[in-house]
Amino acid sequence: MAEPKIDWDAWTEQATEWLSEFIRVDTVNPPGNEARACAWLGRILDAEGIPYQTYDPGNGRTSLVARLEGDGSRGKALILLSHTDVVPFEVEEWTVDPLSGEVRDGFVWGRGALDMKSQGIMELITFLLHKRHNLPLKRDLVYMAVADEEAGSEFGMEFLDRAHPEILDCEYVINEGGGGSTEALGVDRNTINIGVSEKGPLWLTLRAHGRPGHGSVPHDDNAADHLVRAVHRVLSWKRPYIVTPEVQEYFDQLHAARILDRPATKQVLADLAEHNPRLKSIQMNSISLTTLTAGVKHNVIPATAEATLDCRLVPGYDEERFIEELTRVIDDPRIEIERVFVASTPTTSHHTELYEIMERESKRVLEDALVLPSVSTGFTDSRVFRRRGVAAYGFVPTVTGPSEQGRVHGNDERIAIENLRLGTQIMHQVVRGICG
Ligand SMILES: [Zn+2]
Repeated sequence: MAEPKIDWDAWTEQATEWLSEFIRVDTVNPPGNEARACAWLGRILDAEGIPYQTYDPGNGRTSLVARLEGDGSRGKALILLSHTDVVPFEVEEWTVDPLSGEVRDGFVWGRGALDMKSQGIMELITFLLHKRHNLPLKRDLVYMAVADEEAGSEFGMEFLDRAHPEILDCEYVINEGGGGSTEALGVDRNTINIGVSEKGPLWLTLRAHGRPGHGSVPHDDNAADHLVRAVHRVLSWKRPYIVTPEVQEYFDQLHAARILDRPATKQVLADLAEHNPRLKSIQMNSISLTTLTAGVKHNVIPATAEATLDCRLVPGYDEERFIEELTRVIDDPRIEIERVFVASTPTTSHHTELYEIMERESKRVLEDALVLPSVSTGFTDSRVFRRRGVAAYGFVPTVTGPSEQGRVHGNDERIAIENLRLGTQIMHQVVRGICG
């Protein structure tokens, strides 16, 4: 069957209008209110005559799943995944109302414009195109919009994994966790990073106990004092660079494409890391000190003190081993180490049919684009699929320039309408390639 001619100008307009509306659906998490997003998506699916299911863990933190059935001759389903919640914002720091979805200067502005209501719309459009044009499907195509990703997914993906595992059964997932840029290592070149793995979050609380007392009589069992010394040792800890195979592959491909002018030896990678925090983070078990709490009054020696550390381990690094190392570095039995949140993800191979298609179709639309398998410093819902053995990719087929970057979870988040077009078009061709 010949592929229908698709009017991408019209669909870009539709994508712009829908994204703008979707941003106006307030799903700031906390509290989330993702049922609102499901109601909004549900109205669009109803209009197209597509049935869907919603899944509510009992508190309105609803997720939505719709399925177009294929004949199964190419295997199990492809899931187009997105989360509908967004992170909070500081309204006074924004040029526009963050929940306005304002369209201005060729951009759609608002919280979720990049992370990740835009991708939800790109995925929705290819899903609808399949229904409207009755495109043949050799596997099921699933649209999945889930709650609570921004707060750890307890009421979203983790809930679905526990309560409705049957809907997660699939061969491939396309999700956030990758992305494109108009440059690579400072060289002008359209580049799309496809996320194949993620660093594992290990959130720790360090807690010190001591003896309270009057500030006028210092003694050597001050909890704040113990904690500050422990934190100082942690932050002075010289950790080695760890080049995992995924990261080596990323740099080898950059070298093969002549973006990196030297072979990717350990020394070269370490030099790059010294000047680039992201390249450093993907090569190291990182530690950010994020909160410090102690004391009640100026003249009272506190009895307890706490610090939180956001540690992120390179893929495959054992968390027990890291905590043993950290314990040795702190070298103070009075410091208690509590694990608050731990997650890890296996790596998805980049030698799959879907990966090849994502690479091919990205290059077809964006001539000369560089497509690279990459490790994300952040974590996403892909981990839930990867730990089930599913090939899940962070694939966001857009190329953001300096005027869009750095706004995810930041101020004045916005996406260029040109990127909405690009993303919708590539996403559709990838889905045709793997499902058609
Ligand atoms: Zn996100």
